[in-house]
Amino acid sequence: TDKPQGMRPLALPPKISLVDFKEFVQEIIDLVGIVNVEVISSKDQIEDGSYMNPTYTHDPHHVMEQDYFLASAIVAPRNVSDVQAIVRLASKISFPLWPISIGRNSGYGGAAPRVSGSLVLNMGKNLNRILEVNVEGAYCLVEPGVTFHDLHDYLVANNLRDKLWIDVPDLGGGSILGNATERGVGYTPYGDHWMMHSGMEVVLPNGELLRTGMGALPAPRSPETMGLKPEDQPWNKTAQLFPYGFGPYIDGLFSQSNMGIVTKLGMWLMPNPGGFQSYLITLPRDDDLKQAVDIIRPLRLGMALQNVPTIRHILLDAAVLGDKKSYTSKTEPLSDEELDKIAKDLNLGRWNFYGALYGPEPIRKALWETVKEAFSAIPGAKFYFPENTAKNSVLRVRDKTMSGIPTYDELKWIDWVPNGAHLFFSPIARVHGEDAMAQYQITKKRCHEAGLDFIGTFTVGMREMHHIVCIVFNKKDSVQKKKVQWLIRTLIDDCAANGWGEYRTHLAVMDQIMGTYNWNNSSFLKFNEVLKNAVDPKGIISPGKSGVWPSRYSQTWKL
Ligand code: ADP
Repeated sequence: TDKPQGMRPLALPPKISLVDFKEFVQEIIDLVGIVNVEVISSKDQIEDGSYMNPTYTHDPHHVMEQDYFLASAIVAPRNVSDVQAIVRLASKISFPLWPISIGRNSGYGGAAPRVSGSLVLNMGKNLNRILEVNVEGAYCLVEPGVTFHDLHDYLVANNLRDKLWIDVPDLGGGSILGNATERGVGYTPYGDHWMMHSGMEVVLPNGELLRTGMGALPAPRSPETMGLKPEDQPWNKTAQLFPYGFGPYIDGLFSQSNMGIVTKLGMWLMPNPGGFQSYLITLPRDDDLKQAVDIIRPLRLGMALQNVPTIRHILLDAAVLGDKKSYTSKTEPLSDEELDKIAKDLNLGRWNFYGALYGPEPIRKALWETVKEAFSAIPGAKFYFPENTAKNSVLRVRDKTMSGIPTYDELKWIDWVPNGAHLFFSPIARVHGEDAMAQYQITKKRCHEAGLDFIGTFTVGMREMHHIVCIVFNKKDSVQKKKVQWLIRTLIDDCAANGWGEYRTHLAVMDQIMGTYNWNNSSFLKFNEVLKNAVDPKGIISPGKSGVWPSRYSQTWKL
């Protein structure tokens, strides 16, 4: 008979018996304590929760059935040694582990594992220390459980905001480490999080602990640190300053991958620029997108645009300010006339460009003149600072985001429809007017065919744009969910046919997207599979992540 907690999980991984599972989980309980283990044995444990109160069992934005991707148990290691011990236990029976840091991963699958029955390793619950904030070198070293909000609070509490800023994504509750390993982005000059990391500590599938870059070079020995376990030993003093070290640069193998479990990460922080001004440029017409993107390219390349600015579709801003019902009684996609009316009522454009100026006043002034002059070529473009906009304006939110202050206001657009949930479709686009227009037209057309409004934004990197299509759907409407599945699958193929690929994706379409990165007989995937099987022969870490499967899993696992 089962223990009170219920040791019979709703889902078991392939080729694992209940007896094996129970023994495995009991060994883990003996290791980390019962308070750090939860077996998912009853449907009552599967609740969508909310952003502020996230679930670890499944994807709260379920585009498939609610329990399609389901954990068998959730385990929170207390320290790095626990992680190593769990990996070794899992290795014995080839039990799949799915490491997460905070587990929000909103729009990409939440904390859910790709293979149902996997053990979700909640790295963030106990491993949540800010190990260092170094003002002189402008960097930090963090564990998985440190959120953007946590680090920002730390800077404020220690009076360090006048020295250092962090870079935040749209929402402040994610893990700094988790987001960087997923190659997520934010909106300050340090918006490319992967570019800004330096030094990783990783538990490998065989239980060994690795430090990358200069972290592979030991810090000088001293009497105080001599007896410490590797995980507690001080890092080389240059590990957070120079990311590459010597020899093959392997950090990339631990991003969007399943080669290891990241336990520490160094991140560069931005020195307080000594002045900041956010702005909004509204663009009245739908096809102004084309001209705007061509204006942006040289400015961004030349760094007159200093940060990661965004070109937001009117409905993304509208959805932050109210749900669809507050604008219209219509449930079908809105027409051009209706979008024009919404834009007019909100004092916004059909596209809205949010950027910021960094530095002392003379610098900001010179850059603003450049930016303003360039955008003035668009008839009807209007320019705003936050104080010239409504109290609840999106610019006032972006003002915080672009200066590294975490917010939660962008959560509101998910409620555009009743029982709102979302899925991101995120192709990369050239910073090129025609390409941007074509990608917008194709994605919009497909959204409309699926009966949904187009809601999206282009976030401008150094030489490309992450085009983020926010697919918002009613998660209690199973017919609509089927349409959304059709939509994203169709979008992936449409985009691939045009030479456009996604930078990141939801669990449900990882295989399909990896299938589009198939140049020369899929040599990229084949190389990844060789590495995967060599580094993780038992296939225990995140099988199927990014469409990379260990040989233990047959082709039939592909979705
Ligand atoms: P968020 O910061 O949005 O809450 P998660 O913690 O859910 O993000 O992490 C997103 C994804 O990144 C996970 O599903 C997992 O694939 C990967 N990931 C997160 N943390 C780690 C880690 N410590 N080691 C390896 N992979 C990780």
